[in-house]
Amino acid sequence: MRVVDTDILIVGGGPAGLSVSGRLTGRQSILVHQDREIGLPVRTSGGSWLKDVQRLGIPPDLYQLVDRLDVFSDTRQVVCDIADAPAVVLDVTGLYRWLAAQASSDIHCATKFLRTEQTGEGYLSTVRTVGQGEWQIRSRQIIDASGWHCIVLESLGLNRKPERDAVGIEYEYPVTDFQMDRAILFFGAFALSGYGWVFPTNKGTVRLGVGVIRPASDASPRDMMNALLASDQLERMGVPRPQDHHVNAGTIPSVAYEKQLVYGDVIRVGDSANMATPTLGEGLRICIEQGRLLGEALSEQTPKALQLWQRQANGKLALNYKIGFWVNQAAARYTAQNWERSLKRMEKLPAHELMAYFRNDFSWGMIIQRVSLLIWRKGLDKVRAMCGQQGPT
Ligand SMILES: Cc1cc2nc3c(=O)[nH]c(=O)nc-3n(C[C@H](O)[C@H](O)[C@H](O)COP(=O)(O)OP(=O)(O)OC[C@H]3O[C@@H](n4cnc5c(N)ncnc54)[C@H](O)[C@@H]3O)c2cc1C
Repeated sequence: MRVVDTDILIVGGGPAGLSVSGRLTGRQSILVHQDREIGLPVRTSGGSWLKDVQRLGIPPDLYQLVDRLDVFSDTRQVVCDIADAPAVVLDVTGLYRWLAAQASSDIHCATKFLRTEQTGEGYLSTVRTVGQGEWQIRSRQIIDASGWHCIVLESLGLNRKPERDAVGIEYEYPVTDFQMDRAILFFGAFALSGYGWVFPTNKGTVRLGVGVIRPASDASPRDMMNALLASDQLERMGVPRPQDHHVNAGTIPSVAYEKQLVYGDVIRVGDSANMATPTLGEGLRICIEQGRLLGEALSEQTPKALQLWQRQANGKLALNYKIGFWVNQAAARYTAQNWERSLKRMEKLPAHELMAYFRNDFSWGMIIQRVSLLIWRKGLDKVRAMCGQQGPT
């Protein structure tokens, strides 16, 4: 079998893998990507935030600005004016191609990583390219940027594919009578154990999607989409019906964040390291940022630089993701009635605080407020139980 030597093998040409490659200097690398092209098929909805995309230097022609977010339950609606801190919807294919244009690796599309084994000097990985068959890559380090597949870690027995994940389906279609700076999130009967969304793009289309957490629910996203389309919810939310649509679909892990990112010379980043937010499953800005930081750490060629990257990533994500994952687990059990009550609470929150929940950015003030509320509720339940046991005096 043909063997090619390189310094670093990157597995996965999504935002995480491409961003690692974009910041590698002085290192030779190969990136293998199982899809035929970068950025297609689309497996994500592209929702993000203006302040993040500006910080990451993403050009404005790659996103649509959103300054109004409507949140719906089955009977309620909360309108959030977010013009002060707008959201964006990214042109996913355009963004991935832009990232690929900055990548320093030798990129091989239609090339699937199959397995790897440790050898004296590093790793010998077997890949298969469509039309060319199997070949091997000898590298000193491997980056697992394969998303929820976690394929490298699994191949080496270092970790496993997530047992809990979120799957989503999205219909993208052209619209003429929709306010293109308005996005929608909806919760309740039509997206139980998950949520739905309507995102406008800069291509004159909207992305109408529903996602569900498995195994919290065994509902199929396609059936959920059909039920939504058979209902009058789209009219209620002011969303045009799809005539001619294109389907996007994808999976993300929905498990607790784990702090081990570096396994010697095998390092994971992006969804293979559970880096999408537990609240809404938003991963693009985080995968790009952490991918770039990892690329810079790899360029330093010292184990210390990698440990520092791991420590800083954990410092940024671990606590917030722990809280977010509690929210995720509770929301996965919510009934339609729970969502009505939740919307009632959302109505009272200032828009910036609600967005902080959606962004999974929990400040100490929010944490203390939440914990006090829980303690107060628990105390109230105890008093109620005591009154129930002893009877009114
Ligand atoms: C339905 C849905 C909607 C989402 N919406 C949003 C959103 O609105 N905003 C947001 O910020 N995030 C969103 N996300 C999350 C976001 O898409 C992910 O967090 C992000 O794409 C993760 O990037 P990644 O590079 O780690 O993994 P991926 O994007 O999954 O990329 C990994 C790549 O590796 C390739 N690969 C896998 N196995 C192999 C192999 N054996 N060999 C070679 N290549 C391989 C895959 O084909 C894939 O293209 C959404 C996710 C889903 C599923």
